[in-house]
Amino acid sequence: MNKVSERVQSVFKTQSQHKWVNKASTAEQRLAKLQKMKDAIQAREDDVVKAMHLDLRRDEEGARGEVTSIYGEIDHAFADLAQWMEPVEADPTPFIGSKARIMPEARGIVLLFSPWNYPFALLFQPLASIIAAGNCAMVKPNELAPNISKLAAEIINDVFDEKDVAVFEGGVDLANELLELPMDHIFFTGSPAVGKIVMGAAAKNLTSVTLELGGKNPVIIDRTADLADAAGKIAAFRNLNNGQVCLCPENIWVPEEMAQDFIAAAQGTFQALFYKDGALNPDANGKMIDERNFQRVKNYIDDAREKGANIVCGGDTDSDLLSIHPTIMTDVPANAIIMGEETFGPILNIFTYKDADEAITSIQQQSKPLALYVFTTDDDFVESVLAKTSSGGVTVNNCLLHVAVPGLPFGGVNGSGIGAYHGKFGFQELSHQRSVLAM
Ligand code: NAD
Repeated sequence: MNKVSERVQSVFKTQSQHKWVNKASTAEQRLAKLQKMKDAIQAREDDVVKAMHLDLRRDEEGARGEVTSIYGEIDHAFADLAQWMEPVEADPTPFIGSKARIMPEARGIVLLFSPWNYPFALLFQPLASIIAAGNCAMVKPNELAPNISKLAAEIINDVFDEKDVAVFEGGVDLANELLELPMDHIFFTGSPAVGKIVMGAAAKNLTSVTLELGGKNPVIIDRTADLADAAGKIAAFRNLNNGQVCLCPENIWVPEEMAQDFIAAAQGTFQALFYKDGALNPDANGKMIDERNFQRVKNYIDDAREKGANIVCGGDTDSDLLSIHPTIMTDVPANAIIMGEETFGPILNIFTYKDADEAITSIQQQSKPLALYVFTTDDDFVESVLAKTSSGGVTVNNCLLHVAVPGLPFGGVNGSGIGAYHGKFGFQELSHQRSVLAM
């Protein structure tokens, strides 16, 4: 049992009363809050860029991209919130003279935990859905991105009264304190390991959860694919944020006769994007978030090498810069640590197949991933892979991009998550669908 601080208890008590006011709020009132939040973020955009560079060595384009994705979420609510809030008339009931409708209603107090890899967007995007759905929020930014955490806290404190949205900065102890309280819902983005802790804590209070987790995302390259195009995209996305993206491609399945060409093309892309005159370009490469994560990924490489894996390229690390070179490994033995864990670092593992069913059987035996990628020009191949596998989402002939389609729900399945959000799906996730029968 963790001791819950006075401030946490007092905010929870205040929000427990105020959630009924927010639940009854109109679309206009909710949109006014979102407008204030958007204005405040816009006013601090240059500070976001600075904080993002300090925490993650992210370039300006990447930092502004995070902010843009938040505006996209808010603008979507501006366009459609009134319609999302409308009750939906249900099918005719068996009772003569009666009418049934489904009313989306706010869940109440939502506890929000964000990850450090997209520490700004993955806090304010779900917060936009939480507010759009008429909830209160208790928000904990991620402690491993301290500059963004501080900035996000300043913005939230400037914009919101604590009875609507309250922010708490801190680490694991604070997380456990917040998890003691009987929240109405928890929205968690982070690792599967901590996702289990969060779900266990939620179970004690029968709190509903949205878990946005990670996993090992597989790629299947078909014989009909444009191999150079596939290799270029996979290599570029594998080293995005130095590989610390939940949607990064990780385990690459390629027909055995195409493997050498794939590796050569992927290496070429690594050189073109992340090296300058043959030396690693630290600004383009990015950095591991901290020493612990640097050592964790370095250990995957050292362990796989010791156990007989072939490090085709990369494998080098720079502890001063906390950078890991983009790495390609083949022949990774089943007992290598990396085979059982999400890498969250810039390593591509290459597996070859004679028959695509070998790849599919292997994917079926793993935890369901957050994303699966297929490279092919054969529509039947796509349908066959979709029919025989499961994942949170899929992009065909590219990586990651399904996350940027506002009309698609974004989330995982089982080991990679529970629930989904973005646009209407975020509103629905943060709402309870209440059945109302009038006789
Ligand atoms: P994390 O699970 O370590 O931390 C997330 C949050 O949980 C933080 O607020 C942290 O304070 C808290 N926490 C950490 N340990 C805890 C504990 N023992 N008890 C209670 N709370 C604890 O995740 P992370 O390292 O910040 O992020 C990386 C992970 O997030 C990766 O697995 C990645 O795939 C995943 N991720 C998923 C998505 C998605 O949208 N599905 C997006 C980004 C990252």
